[in-house]
Amino acid sequence: MGVRKIPFSPPFINDDVINEVIDSLKSGWITTGPKVKALEREIKNFSNATEVLCVNSWTSGAIMILRWFGLREGDEVIIPAYTYSATALAVLHAGGTPIMVDIGDDFNISVDAIRKAISHRTKVIMPVDIAGFPCDYEQIMNLVNEPGVKGLFKATSSVQKEMGRILVLNDAAHSLGATYANGIRTGSETDVAVFSLHAVKNVTTAEGGAICLNLPEPFDNKALYTQLRQMSLNCQTKDALSKSEAGGWRYDITGFGMKINMADVNAAIGLAQMRIYPQLLKERKRVFSIYNEAFSKLHWAILPPAILKGKESSYHIYALRIRDITEEVRDKIINEISKMGVAVNVHFIPMPMLTFFKEKGFDINDFPNSYNNYKGEISLPIYPQLTDADVEYIIQSVIKAYNNVVTGIYAKEAI
Ligand SMILES: *Cc1c(COP(=O)(O)O)cnc(C)c1O
Repeated sequence: MGVRKIPFSPPFINDDVINEVIDSLKSGWITTGPKVKALEREIKNFSNATEVLCVNSWTSGAIMILRWFGLREGDEVIIPAYTYSATALAVLHAGGTPIMVDIGDDFNISVDAIRKAISHRTKVIMPVDIAGFPCDYEQIMNLVNEPGVKGLFKATSSVQKEMGRILVLNDAAHSLGATYANGIRTGSETDVAVFSLHAVKNVTTAEGGAICLNLPEPFDNKALYTQLRQMSLNCQTKDALSKSEAGGWRYDITGFGMKINMADVNAAIGLAQMRIYPQLLKERKRVFSIYNEAFSKLHWAILPPAILKGKESSYHIYALRIRDITEEVRDKIINEISKMGVAVNVHFIPMPMLTFFKEKGFDINDFPNSYNNYKGEISLPIYPQLTDADVEYIIQSVIKAYNNVVTGIYAKEAI
């Protein structure tokens, strides 16, 4: 087979995306305005969230929600050890303490581990829908509503008093379009969910995030949307558009905000993608299914979860795991695959293995399932632009690489 060059995750840019951006550039208004509003509407209609607010990244959106909730020093936020570091960094930026817990075979946070980690300091739980496969939200929402768990909750801000229990803020960076409990889309099943619209995600605005609000009574999600929108614009009483109008110069700063609004020129990219997102999802599923079909025949391959317990993935990452290999052998296999022109990745290096978190005292030995899922994991390219022939080439590259490396090791041992 001839060598192909297969990138890991290029953005989906067609003529409609380009024309939407040009439209924004020609309109004379490039920052937060009608395109952002239109994108919020698209994501809201698609995900069934009560309100959707777009900001400039997942990370800044999560920090803002934690700050709105009144997180302060000593407050604990339960997160999985197995995720991208932004999940923990957002907690630290907001002044809280990340409490890492282990995961299950589906890569997602273990509900039993969450239960054991809950203390009178717990303010928020942040489950992560790894690779686009949703966590067990029915169990998690039931858990935070249990009288015993509610009884432990100590409100230390006015918002926390209104809430009266732990907030469930899910890191839905990967899971736009995933479904939960037979058809309910992610973004509508927890108090707050945040999607990432970063360049490598299923839908992108180059950089961006979408905050989905579904807070229970007595919260007014519409009023909260307005409040958070202002908070994302330095808590300034007038946005750039109304200030730019003749005579509209006076404004006030009403609180300690952040400057994390999304620009229209960015929103335009995601807007054109959202309009065809059901088709894009279908294409991702096509690629995922070809992989599954091929790897299900190989005894050494563990397939990633996709359709299970009434849930369906958004097919963001194809997280292949190779059975019974060490981290070193996995790395060698990745090297071999790279030589054949295929870019792969590992999702994720558990946070306790990264310098910053090690220095904070986290130890990977406390998270055995995270390590075991990591050591044999290889993420394969998955996106709509891949042809069936590309996918076949990737599969053959992985099989060849496995045979070269693993057979090589066995041969050496036999000598
Ligand atoms: C991409 C990602 C983020 C961060 O998203 P940004 O929009 O880049 O801030 C957070 N969590 C997970 C699991 C991610 O993969």
